Amino acid sequence: MLDKRKFYIDGEWVDPIKRNDFDVINPCNEDPCAVISLGSTEDTNRAVKAAKTAFETWKETSKEERIKLLEKLLTIYKKRFNEMAEAISLEMGAPMDWSNDVQTASGRDHLDDFILRLKNFNFEEHFDEKSNNHICYEPIGVCGLITPWNWPINQIALKVAPAFATGCTMILKPSEIAPISGMLFAEMIDEAGFPKGVFNLVNGNGAGVGTDISSHPDIDMVSFTGSTRAGKLISKNAADTIKRVCLELGGKGGNIVFADSYKDAVRDGIRNVMSNSGQSCDAPTRMLVEKSIYERAVKEAVDEANKIKVDQATKKGDHIGPVISKIQYDKIINLIESGISEGATLAAGGPELPNGLNKGYFIKPTIFTDVTNEMRIAKEEIFGPVLSIIPFDTEDEAVKIVNDTSYGLGNYLQTDDKEKAHRVAKKLRSGCVYVNGNAADVGTPFGGYRQSGNGREGGVWGLTEFLEVKNVTGWKN
Ligand code: NAD
Repeated sequence: MLDKRKFYIDGEWVDPIKRNDFDVINPCNEDPCAVISLGSTEDTNRAVKAAKTAFETWKETSKEERIKLLEKLLTIYKKRFNEMAEAISLEMGAPMDWSNDVQTASGRDHLDDFILRLKNFNFEEHFDEKSNNHICYEPIGVCGLITPWNWPINQIALKVAPAFATGCTMILKPSEIAPISGMLFAEMIDEAGFPKGVFNLVNGNGAGVGTDISSHPDIDMVSFTGSTRAGKLISKNAADTIKRVCLELGGKGGNIVFADSYKDAVRDGIRNVMSNSGQSCDAPTRMLVEKSIYERAVKEAVDEANKIKVDQATKKGDHIGPVISKIQYDKIINLIESGISEGATLAAGGPELPNGLNKGYFIKPTIFTDVTNEMRIAKEEIFGPVLSIIPFDTEDEAVKIVNDTSYGLGNYLQTDDKEKAHRVAKKLRSGCVYVNGNAADVGTPFGGYRQSGNGREGGVWGLTEFLEVKNVTGWKN
């Protein structure tokens, strides 16, 4: 079992002020795989003090100095890539190939992209030719970064890299149930030689360090990725200090499959939901199928779901692993049971353990058909390998059903008709619309409408989240 009880504060690995051990559970076998400490208010205060002191000099560094350090970090990340893939696989049960090729690769790609964006970013610009006003973009200050477990290093890189790039200092609190990748990232930052206090890591839970961060008077901004439930609490806690609160929250994506969709649209939609064991905020978990192809689509969907293997993270290959925890497992099974009792048709999967797996939080790829948008399985974020299929008649009806949710993160549409694709994409109320299986490029904005959040991460949008804007008059004369 790994001993990860220290925090990284002011350039050193230090013991927590009060001992408070917490076991990290391997979701593949339900056994503890590491022990961390849950921090206290005193630990958070210590990290905030270090970040506040470091901000005075870090904010004055040149773009070139910051680029050099970020490039060093990227080199180290690439060198220790396999260690990162193993850490993510262990803490969240991600199969090794997936952990390597997708989860760990995402951290590298974001670092790489932020270096490019920083190189091209102007921290000053003149308002216009005739004007005497000059606009400056300045780091917002000390940032609290709170991240989830489902895309652990993806989320950390999306926050830490732009915070570094813009001259902010920070306290990272990774998810307490998947903290190993974040701690490894802290080791890399240490190795890269960032000045002490610029980056700090304190482990803890939401009620402890998470709440201390969101209410801290010396923290200027909280960047949070996680559930809408926690996002609401963070906003409330942050209100008294009027800090900037950037939220990346949950989702309940719709995937409109029109009759003129490309051949594998349904199968791709199934793979997209089930990958990462259904634990992606922008997963297309409601598949809307045009009635004229409904029967064929259901057949394909069931066939594809039944092909997806569920197995141990350590095995090589194209399977899915367990879900993260007992709490998540119970929540997902409860929602599957609610789908059955509300009258949806269980077409694949179900609440029983997959064959041959009687330990670990494994769930069969599950498909419900004949779902209505009023059922719990169509309304609530399930965060497991579960898909609801909903039939529709017209384009307007499909758009209405997709938008009939409190979320608005990622929606999807499949059609051969370009004009229809553009028209429908503009009507869908979400931060991303994925058309015909095309992925989002690294460096494009990612974030939600409505209760999916208020921020945009990635690329230049990710940089500006960490910046204040200042107008200076009388610049020329
Ligand atoms: P969670 O909200 O339970 O926890 C996320 C983080 O917030 C953890 O570090 C946790 O300790 C902390 N936290 C919990 N309660 C808190 C509080 N009251 N104050 C401060 N911090 C608190 O979410 P999770 O289960 O770890 O992650 C899954 C959720 O994240 C899903 O809802 C998913 O959709 C969402 N998510 C969103 C995005 C996005 O970019 N929009 C990306 C990934 C995940």
